[in-house]
Amino acid sequence: LLTVRGLRKSFGTNQVLESIDLTVGRGQVLALIGPSGSGKTTILRCLNGLEVADGGAITIGGEVTIDFGRVPAPSRRDLAALRDRSAMVFQHYNLFPHKTVLENVLEGPVVVQRRPRAEVTAEALALLDRVGLGDKIDAHPFELSGGQQQRVGIVRALALRPQLLLFDEPTSSLDPELVGDVLRLIKELAVEGWTMVIVTHELEFAREVATEVAFVDAGTIVEHGDPKQLLRNPTQERTRQFLHRLL
Ligand code: ATP
Repeated sequence: LLTVRGLRKSFGTNQVLESIDLTVGRGQVLALIGPSGSGKTTILRCLNGLEVADGGAITIGGEVTIDFGRVPAPSRRDLAALRDRSAMVFQHYNLFPHKTVLENVLEGPVVVQRRPRAEVTAEALALLDRVGLGDKIDAHPFELSGGQQQRVGIVRALALRPQLLLFDEPTSSLDPELVGDVLRLIKELAVEGWTMVIVTHELEFAREVATEVAFVDAGTIVEHGDPKQLLRNPTQERTRQFLHRLL
């Protein structure tokens, strides 16, 4: 479902991604792990068209390939097509503070995707109910706990009906006692067959939920493979050192 070839990105003279190759099949879950500043978030932002890569190509869903190396560069319309195929769940939730929970969920599907409000509302209410927020639809984000805000963030992503869900450290802003609920919800989505790329420091979660783990360091994928194998018995020294520090 997702293929990334030779993805490169620099900010000024700082080359953040060197040449990233990734493949994620339909229904698979890829966990990206690695040290702070290694480029994990930038990979997600390039996949979602929030950053424009300098080179390489991204294919989501088979039909549309965006080639960042070609001249002229991809148009706004190309990037919009890319953005449309995935939805991102952010570390700091990134909800609209002045909108209610329901309005936050409706914004993308109704305003951006121009789907009928009544249909999207019915879907949004069912999703909010499912994550235990059926009685919070008129609340504003500041009235919710971090765990509740992140569940709204996840519902907002699902309501876009993306082919690919992207999670950027979805639990690292949460108090420890709220982490479990959010991880359980993400695990349910994996079991339901959603295709996902998850940046996470939760190695136990990655081991349990991911079908593949990739270790990112200094803008490259140092190694990738089966979660149980890679997390227990990495082949690369750099991975070994990273895992050692976390344990
Ligand atoms: P963390 O786990 O801390 O979130 P990360 O692996 O996700 O780290 P990135 O956020 O992708 O790393 O950042 C990689 C590098 O790119 C860092 O050196 C960061 O300072 C730089 N960087 C990221 N975004 C920008 C930007 N918009 N402008 C300039 N530099 C940036």
